[in-house]
Amino acid sequence: MRIAVLSRNPNLYSTRRLKEEGESHGHEMHIIDPLKCYMNINMKSSSVHIKGKELPEFDAIIPRIGASVTFYGTAVLRQFEMMGVYPINESVAISRSRDKLRSLQLLSRKGIGLPVTGFANQASNIPDLIDMVGGAPLVIKLLEGTQGIGVVLAETRQAAESVIEAFMGMKADIMVQEYIREAGGADIRCLIIGDKVIASMKRQAKAGEFRSNLHRGGSASLVRLTPEERSTAVRAARTMGLNVAGVDILRSNHGPVVMEVNSSPGLEGIEAATSKNVAGRIIEFIEKNAKAHKTRTRGKG
Ligand code: ADP
Ligand code: MG
Repeated sequence: MRIAVLSRNPNLYSTRRLKEEGESHGHEMHIIDPLKCYMNINMKSSSVHIKGKELPEFDAIIPRIGASVTFYGTAVLRQFEMMGVYPINESVAISRSRDKLRSLQLLSRKGIGLPVTGFANQASNIPDLIDMVGGAPLVIKLLEGTQGIGVVLAETRQAAESVIEAFMGMKADIMVQEYIREAGGADIRCLIIGDKVIASMKRQAKAGEFRSNLHRGGSASLVRLTPEERSTAVRAARTMGLNVAGVDILRSNHGPVVMEVNSSPGLEGIEAATSKNVAGRIIEFIEKNAKAHKTRTRGKG
């Protein structure tokens, strides 16, 4: 098959691994920078070009679109979908999962466990917002944040009020969340392919830190999932409509709660922690499922 990896940087671990595994399975792998693509949107035909050349026809596409290029990246992916290329994750599902509020709303609609979460637009609502999530300590998150940046733990009500006020004053979109203290600075990353958790790891925050992101100095180790955690992770990915997803779960005293669903989960941490060939499993999923024009949405909606 001819498979494209939509990625800005061929040297990233995940991009390299997907190329390597694709090639070792006998496929022709192309790494395409979505920002270099330009497109012809036309009634009769659609095409994608780079540097004066039309790209060849692909059988499948693996989007690895960074958070900072979601808008243009998903537009490029949508163009491929309209041309009938099979995407392992669809543009609509990626956009859905990138919107933290929308994701939580969809997950709650399906009855999936979540931390109690509030959001508001106006400073006049702050005291009530804090009460709604059970008072301090609480977690305040910038909706635009990634890799733990923009996630703040407010230990007291006073701290919470001033941080929320400051963010709102800057016109930043935020949400306010119950602090799951009993998680002890750890979360669980479940790597989903299709409808299975194929690898999972526990990430533990470094001493004095509550954010377990590896980028914030967290460390990864193996973990055994409970059946409830496993089914929660699979249902969360399903709800987003993602075939490949990294679902992050906290162990709370009211069961597993989903924090976020990532549509381009990094492969380095999880392959290292579990010694599993995750990139190979992604290629195998494509081999089993790729068919021209097989998308749920073909870029609609
Ligand atoms: P990002 O998208 O920046 O990774 P997250 O929502 O995943 O933001 O939060 C970063 C980290 O902070 C999580 O991995 C987790 O360890 C910790 N964390 C986030 N929300 C909570 C919460 N409600 N209770 C306890 N810890 C949390
Ligand atoms: Mg996270």
